[in-house]
Amino acid sequence: MSEERDLVVIGGGSGGLAAAQRAAEYGARVTVLEYAPLGGTCVNVGCVPKKIMWNAASLAHAIEDAPSYGFNIDEGNHDWPALKSKRDAYVQNLNKIYARNLASKNIEHINVSGSLDGANVVRAGDRRIRAKHIIVAVGGSPVVPELPGAELGITSDGFFELEHLPGRVAMVGSGYIAVELGGMLRALGAHVDLFARFDSVLRSFDEMLQSALVETMEADGIGMHWGAAPEAVQRLDDGLWLSAADGRQHGPFDELIWAIGRQPSTHNMGLDLAGVETDTNGYISVDKFQVTNIPNIYAVGDVTGRVALTPVAIAAGRRLADRVFGGMTGRYLDYENIASVVFSHPPIGVCGLTERQAREKYSDDVKVYMSEFVPMFNSFTTHRTKSRMKLITTGNDERVVGCHLFGPGSDEMLQGFSVAMHMGATKRDFDDTVAIHPTSAEELVTMR
Ligand code: NDP
Repeated sequence: MSEERDLVVIGGGSGGLAAAQRAAEYGARVTVLEYAPLGGTCVNVGCVPKKIMWNAASLAHAIEDAPSYGFNIDEGNHDWPALKSKRDAYVQNLNKIYARNLASKNIEHINVSGSLDGANVVRAGDRRIRAKHIIVAVGGSPVVPELPGAELGITSDGFFELEHLPGRVAMVGSGYIAVELGGMLRALGAHVDLFARFDSVLRSFDEMLQSALVETMEADGIGMHWGAAPEAVQRLDDGLWLSAADGRQHGPFDELIWAIGRQPSTHNMGLDLAGVETDTNGYISVDKFQVTNIPNIYAVGDVTGRVALTPVAIAAGRRLADRVFGGMTGRYLDYENIASVVFSHPPIGVCGLTERQAREKYSDDVKVYMSEFVPMFNSFTTHRTKSRMKLITTGNDERVVGCHLFGPGSDEMLQGFSVAMHMGATKRDFDDTVAIHPTSAEELVTMR
């Protein structure tokens, strides 16, 4: 067995790398085990390549709107293969930057998958490494349902491998990935049908956002199919066909994308050898300090099943390293008021409670402010996207406990407002802030 390490991190994604680097900055001897390109889901098959595709789709919308501003533009002619190869090169460059960052901090990176072999031992291929502390940050993978023909579909991972824009796409699911990828494919020219089990998308979001997004997706020409639980997929001569539980058949499609959630990558991880407990869905159970039931084994990021977002994993990983190696006793990530953006078209931004959650928590002590308007940009275009905003307050001082945005710019607008909410801002604070005109954001400080 090789020399004992202060920290071994299993998984080189956002959370694992953040924790490893912060620990190394405090002088810890750190090893990271990652068999795949560094950066995890976010860099390789998530946020980064997704945002590039979202930017491309946003340009497609802009090209559609350009004639309204006097441009004479030839629509179409999008070169998917050219974009893909540029995108892949961008991601590969990030992989290299991540490797350089580790090397510059003297962090050992072993290109194998790691597993636990007891509470203080990690298996790394043929090597066994003794570690004082171990962080499991192995993330998750997309769920493929156990249905006849399910293997004929792809997942978000497969979306990023597509060499050409598929002509006809079935998007199965109704969460972040279904609405994001569905919107991008549609904007770039595919015919998209979305199949949801119930009667809406993003069902955990505020109802105002759900109805605004459904309306817009329909207006953009996405076929929305409700009550369409998937039952089987088959390939016929003309393409893929999806059978729904209500007996309806849908097709033909060139691609079917499963976007029905993600699962923790904890199989073959040796959790049992170390006695690490998981919940009923296989996520590693941790306390607020990211500690598992084994005191020197921690977990961060998607593998914990708590708010599966990159910045959350990074924040949890850094705080954990601050506490364990930086002497910051009591430091942990507060999972309240975490802002999140859905990169739909237009984007959605949310922070805090939905109206329903606020009413459950505070009963009648809730006041809601709403605004619906056509952004100035769109009052000029035939494509009349409407923005909608909602602020939810509670108490005599009307503390803002929910902020829900739908419309162009929501993605960039939300960060500053989430700082205000984090600091406990009240409606009065919003009202006392002088507006920036003419913007959409000014609506948030002028609502009555
Ligand atoms: P989500 O959990 O967001 O949504 C998946 C949805 O699919 C479920 O909510 C459910 O909705 C539906 N579903 C579940 N099982 C089935 C089934 N068997 N058949 C049909 N529909 C089903 O998962 P995603 O995969 O979209 O994304 C995973 C996570 O990754 C997100 O929750 C988010 O944390 C993160 N992410 C974040 C992004 C961002 O920050 N912009 C972008 C992409 C992902 P219903 O109950 O309505 O049927």
